[in-house]
Amino acid sequence: MLVAALGLAGCGDPLDPLLEVTGPTMGTFYSVKVARPPAELRTETLRETVTAVLDQVIAEISTYDPTSELSRLNADPTTDWVPVSAELLDVVAEGQRISELSGGAFDITVGPLVNLWGFGPEHRDGTVPDAAAIAAALERVGYDKLALRAEPPAIRKARGDIYIDLSALGEGQGAARVASALEARGVTDYMVAIAGAIRVRGHNAKGAPWAIAIEEPTPGRRSVHRIIEISDGALSTSGDYRNFFEEGGQRYSHEIDPKTGRPIAHSLASVTVVDADATRADGLATALMVMGEARGPALAEAEQIPAYFIVREDAGFRVVSTAAFQRYLRE
Ligand code: ADP
Ligand code: MG
Repeated sequence: MLVAALGLAGCGDPLDPLLEVTGPTMGTFYSVKVARPPAELRTETLRETVTAVLDQVIAEISTYDPTSELSRLNADPTTDWVPVSAELLDVVAEGQRISELSGGAFDITVGPLVNLWGFGPEHRDGTVPDAAAIAAALERVGYDKLALRAEPPAIRKARGDIYIDLSALGEGQGAARVASALEARGVTDYMVAIAGAIRVRGHNAKGAPWAIAIEEPTPGRRSVHRIIEISDGALSTSGDYRNFFEEGGQRYSHEIDPKTGRPIAHSLASVTVVDADATRADGLATALMVMGEARGPALAEAEQIPAYFIVREDAGFRVVSTAAFQRYLRE
């Protein structure tokens, strides 16, 4: 929801052929652009490919679909191994790697807390839960309560009431899977955006790298903070300025600190991450967001993650970007 993908077609410039489809998905939107498409590819075929892939990803990993593979795993009280699809296992495994990297700031078992605070599928008007309810939910949280097996793919929960939430990876996974499907159809130049998760390859219809806008992290307003150019890779932004509720003058974000059981409370307004893999970029952006303006940049620098942080100040914003991000900042 946090990054706008720009067309940037200048008036009068010669343009190569461009196919474009947009629509709703995952409670947000998708936007797919294909430059210089294979001769036989039509807009309608492109739309069918994109929506079929996204529907498939939802059927695997969405907690908003009670019949999804993930929802069935969440509802299953067993602590035995549960066979899962390789696709679901892959996303869970990515989440576990990011948990380890972030020292548990990122945690896909945070679901009970997300739901308690009203940011889950049974979205309700935000109110602050009482301390006992937070403590009870925290008992169920911890990425070390999940075991993964590759052959054959299976997941085992240490408690029957573990609830996995892959929302922080879902948009990235959608973008990655749409990108693979396009490549399988011979597409070489594309931009796939699922809200703030973007995967690009090749060049736009002007033959230039794809241009992606990082938004100004201001609630209720959409304006461009900065344009990033990238021709092969993924970019994802997480922020606290769109999905939140307010009570008693305090803002409560949908990103939850698994250590405290409470929404993050710091001055980091948004984080943008570049990575080869869209699912990982999506998760890393959330992880760094949860870590905040001190620990986030320190981890990203140490791990050589290209990351761009916008920190809220009394008057305006302050930007911090890692050494690995500098190549994307050439004007
Ligand atoms: P957005 O793209 O909307 O900013 P994110 O990719 O940052 O969203 O993911 C936020 C979602 O991730 C939350 O709505 C929640 O479902 C889940 N989540 C919240 N806190 C955490 C956390 N600490 N670790 C992993 N997932 C989280
Ligand atoms: Mg994310």
